[in-house]
Parts: sequence; structure tokens; C-alpha cells
Amino acid sequence: MRVIVVGAGVGGLTLAHGLRRAGIDVVVYERDSAQGRPQGISLHIDERGASALRACLPPAHAAMAEATMGGPREQTLALSEVDGSLAVESTQPSDGLAGRARPGRQAHRPLLRAVLLTGLEEVVRFDSEVTRFVQRGDGTVRVWCADGSVDTADVLVGADGIGSAIRRQYLPHVQVVDTGRRMLMGATPLRAVADTGLPDLIGDSPASMRAGGTMLALGLLRFTESPATARNRWLPALSPSAVAEVEDYLMWALPSTQDRLGSAESPAAVWHRATELISDLPPALRSVVARAWPDATVALRIGMIPPPLPWQASPVTVLGDAIHLAPGFGANLAMQDAHHLRDALAEVDRGRITLLDALAAYENTMRRTSFVPAKASA
Ligand SMILES: Cc1cc2nc3c(=O)[nH]c(=O)nc-3n(C[C@H](O)[C@H](O)[C@H](O)COP(=O)(O)OP(=O)(O)OC[C@H]3O[C@@H](n4cnc5c(N)ncnc54)[C@H](O)[C@@H]3O)c2cc1C
Repeated sequence: MRVIVVGAGVGGLTLAHGLRRAGIDVVVYERDSAQGRPQGISLHIDERGASALRACLPPAHAAMAEATMGGPREQTLALSEVDGSLAVESTQPSDGLAGRARPGRQAHRPLLRAVLLTGLEEVVRFDSEVTRFVQRGDGTVRVWCADGSVDTADVLVGADGIGSAIRRQYLPHVQVVDTGRRMLMGATPLRAVADTGLPDLIGDSPASMRAGGTMLALGLLRFTESPATARNRWLPALSPSAVAEVEDYLMWALPSTQDRLGSAESPAAVWHRATELISDLPPALRSVVARAWPDATVALRIGMIPPPLPWQASPVTVLGDAIHLAPGFGANLAMQDAHHLRDALAEVDRGRITLLDALAAYENTMRRTSFVPAKASA
């Protein structure tokens, strides 16, 4: 069996590792260059993402990913200002109940991406944008890239994110709705905010504070093992640049709207706008944003996809943000999809189930497990 995956995001790369480990031939087409584009600094990984990584990645990759996550996050803190100092006003368990996160750990997004790319040098084709596909009479699928190149496989997986070209052709009735909301995200070196008392106050727990109409969320990433040491121990094949100059930091996220963001686009402009938007917050929080790495700031669009009716399975399928969106835990869902799809395709490869039955079962599970939380979060 040969599988074409479109998109080298967390979902597509997790699937590629899983298929390789199952002995299945896979190629990944990625529109961007190897450097990729800014996608935010960190990810909250819960047990869905963690178990997908353990199941699909080679053991050394999974160990590297785990060693470089932050400590366990089991509760969310609400902060307030008392007598001029920040204090914890209340705590909420991270139990995954509606609107709440599941327990998990924070991962450094660029490092996780570099770990996922390690060992897939022969598999991922960068600068290759897939533009369309055709399902052929012999059951195979043919894809075309923007540069005119063509490839054929038994299965095509659209793991190409929110703007998915595969979804737009295959399931044109499934529409992304731009909510108009934006999340401004950035990071500040931990050493730069030690004097605010915040690191000791929040520990490994995600925290947030509201004042006036403004809310700022914070998450501290203290690497459990230093990335450079972990690389030497677990994954020497990882590019040294992935761990160079990586240090503990405080991630911050500022929910906003396109209207409030205005015309800011470059990282420095978005960072500058963030400093203006938090004028209602206490000085300690304002200094977190003021002392950030401006280049690490991004403004991410928040979209949603209303749950679609089931469709008939074919050798074309989709996973992750290409079909469902959940800004706070979408990477976990993308990795979970990859895990389920790898298991389904491995069963086909062993001759235990037909391809279409396996894909129908995968898609039923995906619609059941990924759209319920997406609906709740909407
Ligand atoms: C503000 C914000 C905060 C978030 N925080 C979290 C969090 O803490 N935890 C969490 O689990 N999730 C979080 N998410 C969600 C998470 O970022 C996404 O759900 C996740 O990245 C989806 O993974 P994916 O592999 O499906 O798609 P993506 O990561 O988007 O990857 C898609 C890839 O496909 C490529 N591509 C696109 N079109 C083509 C094409 N035509 N041809 C070839 N390649 C193509 C893209 O370049 C990209 O590399 C957050 C999202 C937002 C917006």
C-alpha cells in the first residue's frame, strides 16, 4: 500500500511516522519550506496527543518529546490583584469537562515539529503544494502539485490544515467560518520575569487574569530536561539548531478580535499592538508582554467548522484541522486522528479488513471523537 499525506503539520507527521513503523510506504507533500511558518510558541498536550505520539513515533522520538515537555498541568488558576500584588483567586481542575482543558503538559511547538521531522528527510517533500486530485477507475488516487508534478497512491490523506485544498475539493459543503476572533500569542524568557513573582505563583499550571474587558492567559514552560541534554540522550539525529538557544519561558495569549488587532501583521507590529491592548492589566502582567521576544509573537485566526453529516468513504480521507477545529486542543485531535488512521491502515495492510471498511471506521470514530469537543468549545 502507498499513502500520500498532504501537509507536514503535527497530524501529518505523526501519521507518517506511524505508517513507516507499520511498514507502509508513505510520502508527505508540504507547501512550506523546511523552515515552516510561525504557528505559535507552545501546545498543551493531553493524553490523546501523548498516547498518539507514543504509539506512532519511534521510541527515541517519543522519549525526546516527553523529556522536553513542562511539568504536569492539572489545574487552571484565576489570578487577581490584591493590595497591588498578584494572587491566586481560584483554581479549577483540568478535568476535560465542558469548556475546560484536560490534564496535560506544555510542549515547545518548534521543538516538537523538529522532533517530528527527524528521520523523515526522505519522506517529506517541502515546497510542494498539492492543488488537486482525481480518483481513478482502478481505485488509486492521483495528485497534482503547483509545480506540475504528479504522484499516485492507494490512499490520499488531507492533513493540510484549516485551508485544506483536499477538503475543499472532496467535501465542498464543509465550510470554515471565520469567527473574527484572533489569539495574540507570544513568549517571554523566564529570566526576564523572575522579579514579577509570577513563576513561583503559577508553577506549571495555566493561569489567566481578567481586568476590564481584557484577559491574558499564561503558561510557564520549564523544560523537564534541558533540550540540549535530552537531544544527546535520546535523539542525536535531531538538528542541533532545534535545541540551540532554547530556554525556559512564559507563554502568554491574549484573546482579541480582528477589529481590535487592526492592520498589525508582522510579529513586531502584533507584539506592539499587544502591549497597547493590555493597558487595563496590572504592571506585573504588562511587563510580561513588554519583555517578550517580539519576533515570537503571532496573531492566530480562530475559525470553526460546523459538524458535517457523514459522507461515504473512498480512498481519500482527511484528518486534523482540515476537517475539525479546536484552537485549544486541535493538535491533540490531529494526533489522535493520525493514531486511529494508522491503526486502520495497518489492519488493511495485514489483510484483515478492506480499505474502504477501514476508512469508513476511521471516519466514524473521527466524527464521533473530534466533533463532540469541537461543538462544546464553540
Ligand atoms: C491560538 C491557537 C492556540 C492553540 N493552542 C493549542 C494547544 O495548546 N494545544 C493543541 O492541541 N492545539 C492547539 N491549537 C490548535 C493546533 O494548532 C492545530 O489544531 C494543529 O496545528 C492542527 O494540526 P494539523 O496537522 O491538522 O494542521 P496544521 O498544523 O495546520 O498543518 C497543516 C500543514 O499542511 C500544509 N499545507 C496546507 N495546504 C497545503 C497544500 N495544499 N499542499 C501541501 N501542504 C499544505 C501547511 O503548510 C501545514 O504545514 C491552537 C490553535 C490556535 C489557533
